Amino acid sequence: MQRREFFDTPIEYLKGVGPQRGDVLKKEFSIFTFEDLLHHYPFRYIDRSKFYKVVELNADMPYIQIKGKLTRILSHGDKRTTRITAIFSDDTGSIELIWFQGLKWVKNYLKPNIEYIVFGKPSSFNGKLNIVHPEMEESSKAELFSGPSLTGVYSVTEKARATGLDTKALVKLQRTLIAALPAFVQDVFPSDILQKHTLMSLRDAYINIHFPKDEMSLRLATRRLKFDELFFIQLRLLRAKAQRNEIYRGKVISVIGDVFNTFFKNYLPFELTNAQKRVLKEIRIDMGTGKQMNRLLQGDVGSGKTMVALLSILMVIDNGFQACLMAPTEILANQHFISISEALKDMDIQVELLTGSTKTAKRRELLQDLSEGRLKILIGTHALIEDRVQFNNLGLVVIDEQHRFGVQQRAKLWMKDGVAPHVLVMTATPIPRTLAMTLYGDLDTSVIDELPPGRKPITTSHRFESARLAVLGFMKSEIAKGRQVYVVYPLIEESEKLDYANLFEGYEAICKEFPLPQYSVSIVHGKMKPAEKDAEMQRFVSGKTNIMVATTVIEVGVNVPNASIMVIESAERFGLSQLHQLRGRVGRGADQSYCILMTGNKLSSEGKLRLKTMCETNNGFEIAEVDLNLRGPGDIAGTQQSGVVDLHIADLAKDRAIMEEAKAVAEVIVNQDSKLSEPRHTFIREKLNRLEAEKTNFSRVS
Ligand code: ADP
Ligand code: MG
Repeated sequence: MQRREFFDTPIEYLKGVGPQRGDVLKKEFSIFTFEDLLHHYPFRYIDRSKFYKVVELNADMPYIQIKGKLTRILSHGDKRTTRITAIFSDDTGSIELIWFQGLKWVKNYLKPNIEYIVFGKPSSFNGKLNIVHPEMEESSKAELFSGPSLTGVYSVTEKARATGLDTKALVKLQRTLIAALPAFVQDVFPSDILQKHTLMSLRDAYINIHFPKDEMSLRLATRRLKFDELFFIQLRLLRAKAQRNEIYRGKVISVIGDVFNTFFKNYLPFELTNAQKRVLKEIRIDMGTGKQMNRLLQGDVGSGKTMVALLSILMVIDNGFQACLMAPTEILANQHFISISEALKDMDIQVELLTGSTKTAKRRELLQDLSEGRLKILIGTHALIEDRVQFNNLGLVVIDEQHRFGVQQRAKLWMKDGVAPHVLVMTATPIPRTLAMTLYGDLDTSVIDELPPGRKPITTSHRFESARLAVLGFMKSEIAKGRQVYVVYPLIEESEKLDYANLFEGYEAICKEFPLPQYSVSIVHGKMKPAEKDAEMQRFVSGKTNIMVATTVIEVGVNVPNASIMVIESAERFGLSQLHQLRGRVGRGADQSYCILMTGNKLSSEGKLRLKTMCETNNGFEIAEVDLNLRGPGDIAGTQQSGVVDLHIADLAKDRAIMEEAKAVAEVIVNQDSKLSEPRHTFIREKLNRLEAEKTNFSRVS
């Protein structure tokens, strides 16, 4: 392992680090080895030969350099200094510099009337420009650059900065490390792959990512390192899939029989859309292969996933197996139970519902029917994965509206009778393709990209408080036409108390505006007992109430085609995907539907963009792309466990092309050599093993 030695060297052995700094690097940056430091890439580059003048600065600028002197240095705070400010001036003007941390060090370091190079990001406070926590270097001691010289800017934590480990110090460490880089660095890819995909060598990439020779080299280095990150994510997923196919044999669904045909010919309530037909075919082929299906079904709200699930279930029953459908809430499970029972009412197929509130006697009877195989379709909540739920011969598990059940949970379902059932995961949350490839790369995906005919696009508008009267009037006119209305309030955990207060206040105001007996108003929220909630929901579903005031508990799946207005209160507090989900509760019938986003007058620029996006498009995939751009992948549900957040350089919002390319390469390799045992794949295998070991090496978790 000679060649690995350099990379695995503990970071404290790097010249200029030592035990103390080593600790900071470990704690603040998770940098344990030389390799970790190499992988701490700059997040931007600046031209260090360029100095701005104070008059040129504005708050929209990224990191910049200015040169000048400190004219005044002030400590603030009564007994203890809590803040230090300094006035920095050049020949064009002055700007305030501010420190909140590392004050002792700052105090000792700053001297008036010496020329400094100041490096930082201008920002604006109370209309005045300042720079918070700038990095300072005495001009006389600065290394001078000649010609354009791109220097990396590294992310630095305040704690690290307070110990003197700032961007500049990191640049120095990187310089030391790069200078020590062995003349030969073993590349993971064989040379034909490097050539075919114009990938710079690993050694050149490391050098140029930290100290780019020029723009072109920087581009190539960036591309190479992004490729590596995305390649190994894809490789890992594809191998997991290949291994699963080797281990798990699937139940063969080979015939389309009486049950399916009878339903299809006599009871199908509508013609399937082309997208539904296509997806159904994908599922049928998949379940017939003898392998276990693991398929993600994506389809925007209202695209008709339930019918696809039901038809798949019927296919499975025709082949002698049972099926179950699991939903995340009782309301949803109940709704599926009602609509599936209704669809099958003239056929001789037993359908049952199992949730936390199923009565003991009923449960006992149902579980017996299940284990003896009489019960063919079981619908329910998480209650389905309890140990006592024993299937006789489970052929298909459908999981609705859930990003991803833990693999553990799925495995539990599989183990019921030794052979894994097919799994169909349905989601109405459109996921940008790059993210789907990462989160669900080990699943096959089907997409319903077409709505049933006759749907009118929902009209979305943004209204301020001043328009409330008009909005209420509009609600009345729709109710007069027989339509129903949702009014949704945010419920964010941190401000739960206040949010509930708003909800109840809003409910009272609505009740006053829409009084009995002419109107009737429902309310549903998370603090109600499930039975109460269901009863209230049912009143709305059956049309007994005109308005449903609710928190986001109604977000997923609820289907009331007669509802035509969705009013979202404090809409600026919702994320994009949540707004889109909520909007999807209307527009489910043939009537024109409306979504009204109510907000206060103060909106952040990001908030404005979210509202604008909602008003401009009904397309869930477009919305998901904007969302990914705004929030980054780390905040999107399900990404935390996926490794996406461990990305150092690749950006899922921007690097789709590289990801597709990396995936294609990984596919070829896994198809040829799934165990990576060929000599040309040795270094790929070693790196993959290292990455996997890292994931489980808790000593690295500080
Ligand atoms: P989702 O994909 O959001 O789960 P649903 O399965 O609840 O959507 O379907 C939404 C509504 O559209 C339901 O009322 C359903 O009966 C209806 N629907 C589904 N497919 C079609 C179709 N092909 N033609 C007409 N209506 C359909
Ligand atoms: Mg649904």
